[in-house]
Amino acid sequence: MVLVLALAGVAILIGRRMGVRGQYLWGAALAFLALVLLLQLFLPDAHPVKEATGTLSGWLIFIGVGGVGLAYLCALRVLKRHAQSEEPASAPSDKFTDAELNRYARHIVLREIGGQGQKKMKKARVLVIGAGGLGAPVLQYLAAAGVGTIGVIDEDVVDSSNLQRQVIHTDARIGMPKVFSAQAALQAQNPLITVLPYNRRLEADMAADLFADYDLVLDGSDNAQTRYLVNRVAVKLGKPLISGAITQWEGQLSLFHPASGSPCYACIFPHEAAAGLAPSCAEVGVVGALPGVIGSMMAVEAIKLIAEAGAPLKGQMLIYDALYSETRLINLKRDPQCSVCGQPAK
Ligand SMILES: [Zn+2]
Repeated sequence: MVLVLALAGVAILIGRRMGVRGQYLWGAALAFLALVLLLQLFLPDAHPVKEATGTLSGWLIFIGVGGVGLAYLCALRVLKRHAQSEEPASAPSDKFTDAELNRYARHIVLREIGGQGQKKMKKARVLVIGAGGLGAPVLQYLAAAGVGTIGVIDEDVVDSSNLQRQVIHTDARIGMPKVFSAQAALQAQNPLITVLPYNRRLEADMAADLFADYDLVLDGSDNAQTRYLVNRVAVKLGKPLISGAITQWEGQLSLFHPASGSPCYACIFPHEAAAGLAPSCAEVGVVGALPGVIGSMMAVEAIKLIAEAGAPLKGQMLIYDALYSETRLINLKRDPQCSVCGQPAK
């Protein structure tokens, strides 16, 4: 009997190796078992084949034990399937998976963020203007933090002169549109979030439609025209705007949100600087780690705002002078006559 079972086992293994489907193997095994039983039942007692294939009682015990084992396995399978089919129905989409719980564990243990704050992060939709110096740390930390949906808009391609500070891009991705390079970096860091790249310049005719899809806007753009446009559209739609800027050794950031009583960008800088008075980083230079500092601070402000932790940087501007290691916090006031958020006198 042991020999017969061993031979049948070898036959099944060979069948599996050859790619024979499970149901055929089971069918063959059952047919083989039936044949052995028939031999045991109908062959005369002293028949050599009957003697070589064991005893009838032995086979009956084998069938009994095997049957109970199979029934147990089937019952387990049915229970498992039942549990799996019930899981998605009873688990709302904001429930964390084990992978998410582990990934965001250091946030979840923070009293000010916790599970609730992390859930808000997962649901949040954040738009980042610019995938350059400020955009790099902003995007990286928001993705790592588990912000569920991150949009990024930029029209540029990666240039070797960017790599001194735009650490989201790599040498191998020179020539690639920055938003796609950023997307690759973010998805590699955190595959559990969604990144939406917009490979184009932000224009007045599409900005409102784009902003409407997001809860919060972070501006790391490098030109005044975009900066004023971002502010106008954010104010119009009542979206909070975290704005950062850098030049040479100094950077600044603030949260502009007139809808919650704080000033807008135009309250503080009502007029675009005259040409030549606000030179670009390309003209006057910028120290590589500075956007890392200011962009990371912007990401922290975004995380605080989403998780409703601490006091947001509204009505205040944080200024960092890297050359002399100085930080200053200045109070900002809303301008009732502001051309963007105020009601100018008629
Ligand atoms: Zn204003």
